Amino acid sequence: MPGNPNEIKLVNNAMSNATRRKIMNFLENGERSTEEIGGEIGKTMLDFHLKVLQQASLIELKEGTAKLSEYGRNFLKGKEDKGEEKNADLSKAKPVEIAEVRQLLPCIADSSKFRVIANMAPPLGGTLKVLEPLFPRGRYSDRINALIMQKGEIITTIYGTGKVTMTMIKNEGEAGEALENLKSTINEAIAKGVAPAPREKVRVEPMEIYKYLPQTNCGKCSEQSCYTFAIKLMSGEASLDKCTPLKEPGYSTNQEHLQVLTAYI
Ligand code: SF4
Repeated sequence: MPGNPNEIKLVNNAMSNATRRKIMNFLENGERSTEEIGGEIGKTMLDFHLKVLQQASLIELKEGTAKLSEYGRNFLKGKEDKGEEKNADLSKAKPVEIAEVRQLLPCIADSSKFRVIANMAPPLGGTLKVLEPLFPRGRYSDRINALIMQKGEIITTIYGTGKVTMTMIKNEGEAGEALENLKSTINEAIAKGVAPAPREKVRVEPMEIYKYLPQTNCGKCSEQSCYTFAIKLMSGEASLDKCTPLKEPGYSTNQEHLQVLTAYI
C-alpha cells in the first residue's frame, strides 16, 4: 500500500488524469476485461493508463483483465467520504466581498504586466477546497491552504487567510473585472449551499508546457531539449524541479504557470 512520498506521488500522478479517473470509476463495479474498458473509456493509450494505475497500486492486472486493488477500492471510498464532508462545509460559508486592490506591482517575468494583491472577506479558510471544481484550471493546495487557478495568462491564488493575488494583469481595470467575476462565481456557489460537482479538467498538451519552459535546450534536466522534457513531464517520467533554470527569478511566473498546468497531467 502506498505510504512513502514517492509512492504517494505515483498515486497523485495516476489520479490527476481524467482518463485514469474514468477507468477507476468504471472498475468500481467489478473486474473487467481490457476489451470492455477500451469499449467504455476508449482505446487510446489504454495500456499506458492501465500500467500507470498498476504502478500506483490502484489496480491489479491479470491475463487481460483489470480490477481495483484493495488500496484502490479504499482510495475511492475515501474520496466519497471527503465529498460528503465538502458539501457540509460549503453550506456554512458566508458570501464574500473582495476588497479594493491593495497593491499593483510590476510582474517579475514581464514588467509590462502587473501583480495584484487584494483581500477577500470573510476569509474562506478550508472551504476553498470545495470550490476547486468551479474553475476548469483550479487546483487546491493543502500545503499552502490556497486555491490556485489559471485563466489565459492570468494566475489567481486565493489563500485561506483571505489574501488574493493575480499575476500578468494588464491594468487596474482588468484587475477589477477579474476580481468581480471571481466574487460572483464564488458567491453563486455559496448561495446554492452545496459543493459544485467535480468536473473534468482541461486537457494539457506538451506544447502548452513547452511554452512556459525556458526554451534554451541547456540540458541541465538531462534531456536533449526543453520539448523532450515537456513530453517526459506529461508521461510522469520527469518532475518540474529537474529544470533548475526555472528557479531563477526571471522565470518565477513561468514556474507558477507550470505548477498549475502539471497538476492536471
Ligand atoms: S533544464 Fe529546463 S531549460 Fe534546460 S533543457 Fe531542461 S527543460 Fe529546457
